[in-house]
Amino acid sequence: MGAAYVVQREGLIVPEYEIRGAQVDFEIERLRASIEVSVAQIERIERGVRHVEMVGAILQTQVAILRDQMLLDDVSRRIREERKNAEWAVRDELRHLERLFAAMEDPYIRERRADLDFIARRLLSNLLGRAPRRFDEIAAPAVVVAHDLSPAETAQLDRDRVVGIVTETGARTSHAAIMANSLGIPAVVGVASIVASVRDGDAVVVEGSTGRVHLRPDEATRRMASARAHRYARREREMLRAADLPCETRDGHRIEILGNIERSDEVPRLRERGGRGVGLFRTEFLYLNRSAPPDEAEQLRHYRAVLRAARPDPVVIRTLDLGGDKLASWLHVRDEMNPALGMRGIRRSLADRSLFRTQLRALLRASPDGRLRILLPLVTGVSEVREARACLDEVRSELELEGRPYAPDLEIGVMVETPAAVTLSDILVREVDFLSVGTNDLIQYTIAVDRSNEHVAYLYTALHPAVLRAIWKVVDSAHRAGAAVCVCGEMAGDPINSLVLLGLGVDELSMNPHAIPAVKQILRASNFESARALAAELRQLPTVADVTDRVHKVMQQRFPEAFAARAGSQGPGPADLC
Ligand code: PEP
Ligand code: MG
Repeated sequence: MGAAYVVQREGLIVPEYEIRGAQVDFEIERLRASIEVSVAQIERIERGVRHVEMVGAILQTQVAILRDQMLLDDVSRRIREERKNAEWAVRDELRHLERLFAAMEDPYIRERRADLDFIARRLLSNLLGRAPRRFDEIAAPAVVVAHDLSPAETAQLDRDRVVGIVTETGARTSHAAIMANSLGIPAVVGVASIVASVRDGDAVVVEGSTGRVHLRPDEATRRMASARAHRYARREREMLRAADLPCETRDGHRIEILGNIERSDEVPRLRERGGRGVGLFRTEFLYLNRSAPPDEAEQLRHYRAVLRAARPDPVVIRTLDLGGDKLASWLHVRDEMNPALGMRGIRRSLADRSLFRTQLRALLRASPDGRLRILLPLVTGVSEVREARACLDEVRSELELEGRPYAPDLEIGVMVETPAAVTLSDILVREVDFLSVGTNDLIQYTIAVDRSNEHVAYLYTALHPAVLRAIWKVVDSAHRAGAAVCVCGEMAGDPINSLVLLGLGVDELSMNPHAIPAVKQILRASNFESARALAAELRQLPTVADVTDRVHKVMQQRFPEAFAARAGSQGPGPADLC
C-alpha cells in the first residue's frame, strides 16, 4: 500500500533526415558510440544488482543483443543504403525485429519483444543525448505505476521505498514480473489503462497474490489491506525461521523437499529457503539461445558446478527435453502438426545419438563430484529406458578405455508425464531406481488440455480426478517395488495441493525455491494419517468441482491464515482493477 508514482512514458521524438554519402561513416560512428554507452550503462546497473537472481541474466541478454555484430551490421546497412540518420535506422531496424518476434508462436519469445523495445529506447536516448530516466527521487512508500518498465528500470527500484508495481503491459513470464518476484516487490501486470486512471500521490493497494489493484481505497479496504499485509509479513518471517527444520508431519512421517533449478548459482538460495538437494535440474537452458549445442567440456563445467554446490545433497539432472515448445535455432525441426506429440524428450535424444552421448559423457564425467541422479524425460515405454541405458553403458565403456573416472552407483529415474508411463509404471519402475511425476505434462496429456493455450487454460487443473488417480497409481507401483516417487511439476509448489500429495503417498516434492517455506509449513502442521484419509476420499469423487471444493474447504478450515485470500478466487485470474 503506498502513494502512486506514475511513470509517464515520455515520447521520444525520432528525427528523420537524409544524409549525404560523406556523412555515412559519421552516422555509423555515432551508432557505434551509442551502443558502447548503452552497454556501459546496463553493465553498471548489472554490477549493482548481481545478487538479485534473474536480474543479472536479463540484463546480460540485453548486453548480448546490443553487442551482436548483426545489429550493428543491419543498422549500418540501413544508414548506408537508405542514406538516413542513425536514430531513424535504429528505430526502423528494431521495429522490424519486434514484428518478427511478435509473429512467433512461443509466448516466451513473444514476451522478449519488450527487451527490444527497451534496447531501442536506450539507444535512442543516447543518440539524442537524453539522460536515462532515474528513480532515486521516489519517496517511500511508493507504488510505481507505469505503462511498462524495462528490466534495467525495475532493477533500479529500491525495495525499501517501492512497495508495489503495477504495469499496463506484460504477463506472468514477462521480465517486469520475473524481476519484481526476484526483488520481492508485490506486482500486478497487464492492468489495462491504469496510467490514465491514476494521479501521482493517489493511494494504491497492490495485492500481488490475487492480482487485484485498489485505487483510492476507502477506509475499510485500507484496513483490510493492512491487516493482510501484516499477516503475510508475519507468515513469511515464521516460515523462514522454520525453513531449516525437517519436513516431518505431526505424526512423524517424513517427506523430502527439493528444488527445481536451472543454474548452479541458485543452490545457495535453495538452501536458504529450506530445500535439501535438487529434484529437477532442467538442462534445456544450456542448449537454447545459441547457434550450436554445447560441447562436452562446457556441459561438464555446468554439471560439476551444480553437483559441487549442492554437496552432500543429491542432484537430479534431467537429460535434454527439447522439442515441443522448447526449440533451439540449431535444432532444425520440421514443422510438426502436433509438436507436443512430436519429436521431444527422450525420443529426440534417442533419435540423435551423438547429441545424447555427448550429454551422457558430460554427466558421467561429472558424477564423482557429487550425488548425481539422472532423469529421463517424456518416457512412454520400457524400450526407451532400455535403449537409454544401453547408450549409458556404451559411454561407460568408452570412459573406462580412456581411463576417466565416473561414479559406479549412479541412480537412473524416469519422468512419469504421459498416460502410457502411468499405465506401465509397475513395469517401468523395475527398470529404474526412482520415478518423478512431471505434472505439467501429465495433466496436459491426461486430460488433453494444452498447457500453453490460454483458451483452454480454465480446464487445466491438477485437481482433476483422473490426475489424482494417475498419481496414486504411480505411487502404488513404485512403493510395491520399493522405489521412491517425487512430484516435480508446478503442482508440487502450490500449497493448496500439499495435503493431497502427502495423502497420495508421494515421497519427495521438488519445486521453485520460492515456494518451499509455505509448502513445508503446511506439511509440518499436517497429519499423515488424516491426509491419507482425505486422498482416499478424493479418489472416489467424480468431478473436478467436487475435488476442488473439497480440497479448498479442507485447506481453508485447516489453514485459515494461508488460504483466506483464496476464498472466492480459484487461483490466479486476470488482473483486476477495483
Ligand atoms: C513437467 O512436465 O511437470 C516437468 C517438470 O517438466 P517441464 O515443465 O520441463 O516439461
Ligand atoms: Mg515435462
